[in-house]
Amino acid sequence: MNVLEELVKESERCISCGFCESVCPTYRASGYRAAMGARGRVIIAREMVREKREKGSVSPGYANSFYSCLDCFACLQVCPAGVNAGRVSELARAVLVEGGGRENRKRVGDMVVRLTMRYRNPIGADFSDEGEGDGDTLLYTGRMYQTMGYSKVLVELRKRLGEKATERNAGIVARMPFLIRLLRQRPDEEVDREMQASVESIKFLLREAGVKFRFLGSSEPYPGTFLYDLGYYGEFRTYANSVCDEFRKMGIRRIIVTDPHTYDLLLNAYPKFVDRFDFEVTYYLDLLSALEFEQDEEVVFHEPCHFVLHMDYRGAHIALSKAARVKLPPRSGRNVFCCGGPDELLFPEMAEKVSEERYRELSEAGNGRIITACPICFSNLKKSERVVDISVFLKEKLKVRATVSGP
Ligand code: SF4
Ligand code: SF4
Repeated sequence: MNVLEELVKESERCISCGFCESVCPTYRASGYRAAMGARGRVIIAREMVREKREKGSVSPGYANSFYSCLDCFACLQVCPAGVNAGRVSELARAVLVEGGGRENRKRVGDMVVRLTMRYRNPIGADFSDEGEGDGDTLLYTGRMYQTMGYSKVLVELRKRLGEKATERNAGIVARMPFLIRLLRQRPDEEVDREMQASVESIKFLLREAGVKFRFLGSSEPYPGTFLYDLGYYGEFRTYANSVCDEFRKMGIRRIIVTDPHTYDLLLNAYPKFVDRFDFEVTYYLDLLSALEFEQDEEVVFHEPCHFVLHMDYRGAHIALSKAARVKLPPRSGRNVFCCGGPDELLFPEMAEKVSEERYRELSEAGNGRIITACPICFSNLKKSERVVDISVFLKEKLKVRATVSGP
């Protein structure tokens, strides 16, 4: 099935009841603008498909509705017709990239794609962390933690420049990607320090659990999450295949992932786009069962939407429950509310409003620390010292060091 057909199939069941608007974070954050909410996106997608079929092209003005969607999939949970407006947005972005015309493309998206293809990370950063270990089990952070400090700086720049100037400059970098290296990029020091601490904590926990792994450090390729999320499916196919070829040449057979976005991508997108995806994929939190933790603290847990609403994965909640008395805010489980992070670069004001709402809710759910389990959630919700990544928290609470040998 091609992208346009899949978009028709996903959107045609909509009966326009509007239930999805009640849970859509961007609908509320945009001041209840229909085009920025779940129902509006489905209606607009149907109109875009009609135009595309009748005229072979689409009018300008569709991009913001679809690019502002957080892909949280909260809409799907309440839709009586089983429509996923998040998936509609993903597919609509792919239609816009393939044939939506210049006005419906985001130059920031073009820039990220060019930088990823050239530098194997989405911001053209020059990382310097060292690799370690050998063998066929890869600890794969996908540069997600390491990229957050740089993203923070880019988001601040986007806020200062405004949308038009950002798009203009991103267009220049998309044409000449080497220019990014002239910017002398430096990450936000505080975010970078905390993210590096997370990576070190993950490595520490795995070693303590007896898991042997290989870590590639600065030569580790980004998995291409943005390429997929922004709808650049052709480029994503090429890129994902090249990442897998690289892993195969190294003799990698098993991949341990460390964030929800990479986990979702490797489990659900890679097998569809990669010619032969023959790797075993495991989440690091599922490998810590040999460890024991102090359980002397009450915490509030923010579950990542990709875990709960995309994959129905509860491993993070289970791991945290072994190390703390876990309180959940009212919107949790199938009702979980997004951190707003996926909108940070393109719609920073929207992302900020969503994250403020979520942070307030988490703060009111208990007095303890707020635990996140995703570098994007951490970066977007880090509004006080109360917010801590699960890896750092588990390391702090580790009680008995296991002596079992690894798998
Ligand atoms: S809840 Fe489902 S059927 Fe109702 S408007 Fe939203 S997408 Fe359409
Ligand atoms: S995926 Fe999330 S942001 Fe996108 S339409 Fe659905 S509820 Fe709204």
